[in-house]
Amino acid sequence: MDGPIKSGHDGMREAALQLAQSAMAGSEIDALIQCLARLPGLGPRSARRAALQLLKRREALLEPLLRTLQAASEAVRVCPICGNLDTRSPCAICTDPARDPTLLCVVEDVADLWALERSHVFKGRYHVLGGLLSALDGVGPDDLSIASLLRRAGEPGVKEIILATSATVEGQTTAHYLMDRLSGLPVTVSRLAHGVPIGGELDYLDDGTLAAALKARRPL
Ligand SMILES: [Zn+2]
Repeated sequence: MDGPIKSGHDGMREAALQLAQSAMAGSEIDALIQCLARLPGLGPRSARRAALQLLKRREALLEPLLRTLQAASEAVRVCPICGNLDTRSPCAICTDPARDPTLLCVVEDVADLWALERSHVFKGRYHVLGGLLSALDGVGPDDLSIASLLRRAGEPGVKEIILATSATVEGQTTAHYLMDRLSGLPVTVSRLAHGVPIGGELDYLDDGTLAAALKARRPL
């Protein structure tokens, strides 16, 4: 999940720091390294290695990456219904007539949706929240796609809402909040069973565990 938006002061300080750093190095190479280092899983050291490989293998790596990034940036859209990422809008899942329209699975992030899709265990549709409630990080209900979830949950034909947020404090808080907000609607609200370590995210679960967690979901 992305962190909260930085306050003006912090943002300016960071920008000034970056500016000072790039002025010192004064090179596109440094800018490339800094850009890569912002990717998840890449620290400064890996970013330097990646940048070096890209620059050394321009035709084999850098140029195809450039084209692919450009194409993805132009083609990929956020689905206006569920929040999934796809080249179609609405996305392929929302428009697939074979998907069960009575089931709605609520996930924190697109990564969780992808994890469930990889496991082929869920045949309904999704709703991506775009984060979890967190008093600490200042994430409130209005920062997540909760209003659109309540709208969708109230649509005729929807029978069950499966809350598949993680077993972390934020995940549980979010699930309880959603359960409260959904309680007035004629839908069953269930929670993904978590036979997983606290803090485990769906993305890290193997397919068998995911399938078991979905099958063992319990009504709230
Ligand atoms: Zn969609």
